[in-house]
Amino acid sequence: MATLRAQSHSGNNDAPGSASQSGAVREVRNYRLDQRIGQDELAVMYRATHLTLDRPVLVSVLRRTDWVSSSRFQLAARLAAHLTHPNLLPVIDAGHDDRIGHYLVTPYLDTRSLQDVLAGGALDPVQALRIATQLASVLDYLHDQNVVHRDVRPANILVTPQGTAYLTNLSLAASPDTPDLSSIDDTDYRTPYTAPEQTLRTGQPTPASDLYSFGAVIYHMLSGDPPPPTGAPPSLALRDEALAAADRVIQRLMAEQPSQRYSSAGQAITALRQALRPQIDAATVDMEESRWEPIAEWLENPLETVLGGMIDADFIARSRTRADTLHRVDAVRRLLDRWSRQNWTHRPQLGRLIEPEQIVSYNLYFYELRVAYETRTAPQTRLSVHRGGALAPAREAGLWDAPVPDVPPFETCDSETIVIPGSQRVVGCPECDGAGRIVCRTCSGSGTVTRTRKVKEPGGGARTEQFAEECPTCRGYGREGCERCEGTGQLLEEKVFNWSRHARAYFNEDDLSGLHKPTLQAKALKVFDGPISLREGHWYQVAPLKEMIEEAQRNCSSDSRIIAAELTIRGVPVTEVDYRFRDQPRTLAFIGFDNTLKGDSTLYDVERLTLYAIILVMAIILVVILILR
Ligand SMILES: [Zn+2]
Ligand SMILES: [Zn+2]
Repeated sequence: MATLRAQSHSGNNDAPGSASQSGAVREVRNYRLDQRIGQDELAVMYRATHLTLDRPVLVSVLRRTDWVSSSRFQLAARLAAHLTHPNLLPVIDAGHDDRIGHYLVTPYLDTRSLQDVLAGGALDPVQALRIATQLASVLDYLHDQNVVHRDVRPANILVTPQGTAYLTNLSLAASPDTPDLSSIDDTDYRTPYTAPEQTLRTGQPTPASDLYSFGAVIYHMLSGDPPPPTGAPPSLALRDEALAAADRVIQRLMAEQPSQRYSSAGQAITALRQALRPQIDAATVDMEESRWEPIAEWLENPLETVLGGMIDADFIARSRTRADTLHRVDAVRRLLDRWSRQNWTHRPQLGRLIEPEQIVSYNLYFYELRVAYETRTAPQTRLSVHRGGALAPAREAGLWDAPVPDVPPFETCDSETIVIPGSQRVVGCPECDGAGRIVCRTCSGSGTVTRTRKVKEPGGGARTEQFAEECPTCRGYGREGCERCEGTGQLLEEKVFNWSRHARAYFNEDDLSGLHKPTLQAKALKVFDGPISLREGHWYQVAPLKEMIEEAQRNCSSDSRIIAAELTIRGVPVTEVDYRFRDQPRTLAFIGFDNTLKGDSTLYDVERLTLYAIILVMAIILVVILILR
């Protein structure tokens, strides 16, 4: 498949929009619009740059102002934000800007629309099956979520050079919160891929309509031509005899009566896989094509979809190569046989005993978020002795603008009192009213104290006599220095706060259900490590990251802030193999780049182990009997 580094979106209604307000605007919020790369009936697409992250993104700007268009655009944004599937393009950001109106931000991926790809003619059947398998997966997911897409056609499907397909444009989707679109004229939206019964006006939208469109897209991929606007499409055998078996799958998907179609897209894929079996078998001989072996599937982790460019590229490439190798049944059998030979407890000849039914590979990630919190308590007024002269006039700094000790953000700092610059004022001392002196507390201001002394009477007796004496505290002055202001008559009033820092680590991981966690952890490799800004919307697009960040934010008290965050992501490749053993469905997993095997008891020689255990028990009984005699 050729690479075209541009997304070409062409709608069936390409009339220029009434609003060309985005003409001169080069920046929207955090995005710089670099290049206009296309438009469809609703939006103009720009290749843009996320300014803080310096990452390419795709910004779609609504180009019409009518109510129906803006409802559809917002519906697409809202739906996409609530749905998560590897074959749906995630929404990084969406909003409204006064200058350009509604906009929507998605990752900028190296993709072409399937419409562009099909302009070059029919696809190789195995390649078509691979795209169809992914579409089936996302359609069944949407239908499970009570969403009917209603606009499945090649122009709304994006394909990467690696063969990953994305279903886009949910602007006509029917869901429980879809606005009333009945004012739209159906004939404007009828394409050769639209089911005959589908209408935007009345009736209950059903998944069967999407299945019709799905069949029409498969037909186009295999035949190289869009289906005729009405009536059944011509036989695929006209193009290639070998495709004759796929005819009946297309016919059933595109049946006039919705009730005659398959009950799910996945069911249609199973039938199509059967029909294309000879082509698949021929293709799996080739290593590169083996990626598309129908029972094998690569599941992209949402982290890779949203933040793919930031994850260690070498890890991603190696994990894809590893998956390609394991996505061949004979490679799985070889690994199982190697396991059998490793140890006498392992069941012999597993490669022959196990029949893989499905092979799925993906990467799992472990997340560690370190967050540095800084606390600045509400400012308090503090009064102290003012010894200096006049204060230089200065603006009072905000609490969070006040300079604090220059230490690395993650260092723990115990509480310390800090003065807010510019908050200092000289005020008169309230104790002495600015005089610097207060009435002497010893003599109450009289300057003298009354003392008593004994006087001897000439007759030999004694009497007491009172007399006044200069006050020793104020030395007769009647005033003493004010202690509060140390005699200066002035106090320095300033605002202070308590400052402290502490750091905390948070851990989260992808859903590991059914897998052996210690092995996953032991085999995980570092794929991202560095400071991140929690203000960036894309971190919240990955569920385990979002949970972790939100927990960190909940732990932030009202007088604290998060001042720095560092993220470490470690990834481990996993290949799960579903198989039947003695008619029971089982699952085993190859973990890490060394393909460590983890599974249930069927991997072990249970019969031999049981036999040895019985022999051992019998031997012990025998010994006990002999001793007791
Ligand atoms: Zn005194
Ligand atoms: Zn004073």
